[in-house]
Amino acid sequence: MGRLAPSPTGLLHLGHARSFLVAWLAARSRGGRLCMRLDDLDRSRVRPEFEAACLADLEWLGLDWDGPVLKQSSHGAEWAAVAHELGQRGLAYPCVCTRREVQEAIAAPHGDGPSSPYPGTCRGRFAGPEEARQASGREPALRFWVAPGEVTIHDELAGDFSQAVAALVGDFPLTSRDGQAAYQLAVVLDDQRAGVSEVYRGLDLLESTPRQALLIEALGFERPRWWHLGLVTDAAGQRLAKRRDDLSLAALRTAGVEPERLVGWLAGSLGGAVAPEGSEPCTAGDLVAGFDGGKLSVAPLAFDAAARSLLKFAP
Ligand code: GLU
Repeated sequence: MGRLAPSPTGLLHLGHARSFLVAWLAARSRGGRLCMRLDDLDRSRVRPEFEAACLADLEWLGLDWDGPVLKQSSHGAEWAAVAHELGQRGLAYPCVCTRREVQEAIAAPHGDGPSSPYPGTCRGRFAGPEEARQASGREPALRFWVAPGEVTIHDELAGDFSQAVAALVGDFPLTSRDGQAAYQLAVVLDDQRAGVSEVYRGLDLLESTPRQALLIEALGFERPRWWHLGLVTDAAGQRLAKRRDDLSLAALRTAGVEPERLVGWLAGSLGGAVAPEGSEPCTAGDLVAGFDGGKLSVAPLAFDAAARSLLKFAP
């Protein structure tokens, strides 16, 4: 089972198009199923118009999915209960730190900025959530207790990837202080619930994967297979972010780009996985029969002048 899991926190861009096209081809070329899940936990950034745009953009690309559109937020409370079970097993602990306190604690002694690990302020501090609530007058979040050492995951394209999660990230949140499941836990539980066994996503999410592997192990699940795909950049080599609305799929559509040209250009960047090779305009469906995931190579791809001309994109 594969999945398409856009976050409706902005407009999808060319990098999403490439990841979703590959996820779709990998499933459909083997007669496999795909679910559609909107990763909509970040309520401060999610907007209904982005949800609608994600679905419309993927349909425009010629991708489809099986079953209803799932929403990550619909399980927020249920998944938070799983976090509490991990707490009862001694694998997570209540944390009453605010975001600002974490930043200050990190910045004061080390001065290494916001990428430092959580300093462990609340580790071992309270017997349980109730004590944390009483002692602090705050609603606690739960943090996963990360043991020292390296966590190694296997990426189907790049091979093994190791990360010292405790040293780099530290104990990470399983719930937010408003009682909702946090992203890493929700992804693992949603994937498990839907039976997802294959995950295709951008290389920017590789650094999340060891945390997810820790949760998978703690929950007794099986790891899915992971493919982290090279990112699409702008002509200057800068990775596309949701703020690059000028290179969003919606902007391309509005500018009259034909989806067949875009699919052809993306297909031409997938190495020998697509037959016949080349960037000729085609539909996603045209690529299904000749797709060979074993030959996939997904190097970074620049949306440069040649690509603009191929797509006839001149906004
Ligand atoms: N929703 C995430 C994103 O769009 C992807 C989730 C995942 O692949 O784990 O960045």
